[in-house]
Amino acid sequence: MDNLRAWKSVLSGADLILDAGDTWEDTARGTKAPEAWATMEAMGELGYDAMVLGNHETYLGTQVLKEVIAAAPFPVLATNLRSDLPTQRWVLLQAGGLRVLVLGVMWDLVLRWPGWELLDPLESVQAALAEAPDHDLRILLAHVDLQRGKALAQALPELHLMILGHNHLALEQPIWVGSVPLVQAGAHGRTLGLVRMNKTGFVSYQLLSRPVGAVLIGAAPC
Ligand SMILES: [Zn+2]
Repeated sequence: MDNLRAWKSVLSGADLILDAGDTWEDTARGTKAPEAWATMEAMGELGYDAMVLGNHETYLGTQVLKEVIAAAPFPVLATNLRSDLPTQRWVLLQAGGLRVLVLGVMWDLVLRWPGWELLDPLESVQAALAEAPDHDLRILLAHVDLQRGKALAQALPELHLMILGHNHLALEQPIWVGSVPLVQAGAHGRTLGLVRMNKTGFVSYQLLSRPVGAVLIGAAPC
């Protein structure tokens, strides 16, 4: 976890720290429950505000996942997953005097454990937005591939920012779909996305780099 904590000085200045998933499990390295717990605890120490489940989190199995989510000192989002996990459909966060609504959807390669139902991401977000409390900014953590992310952005012009996960793109610039900026900060802690926002929405985005070897998946403070 030393590499994760190496981002501490950057993250300590952020109003929000968000993660787009595939953070607690790494099939390639054969990580299991102990690594998931350690990563979650390090994220808590660094002040993470929310994350969305990625497909890799589902590979941990329902019992481990349930326990890690329950213990996490930040909300774990899954707007389009119906399950017995203690996830949330959205969270309303305070940042810079603004009310920021954060939602999170997942799709590809998710293990559907018994009793789970993965719903359509767009319909789930639309339903959540219709029920959500008053807010100033809307951010979607989208653990989907770029093509699906673009389609979601096209259908959700009311979003102020979409943070993509899953396919490890290290975007130097946001991808604009109409008025919605899509950002993604690579994988394995090599990069971190810094997003600045104000009350009207997106202001700027910067991809920060550090030497290969860090383990932070990515974050986008605003
Ligand atoms: Zn993924």
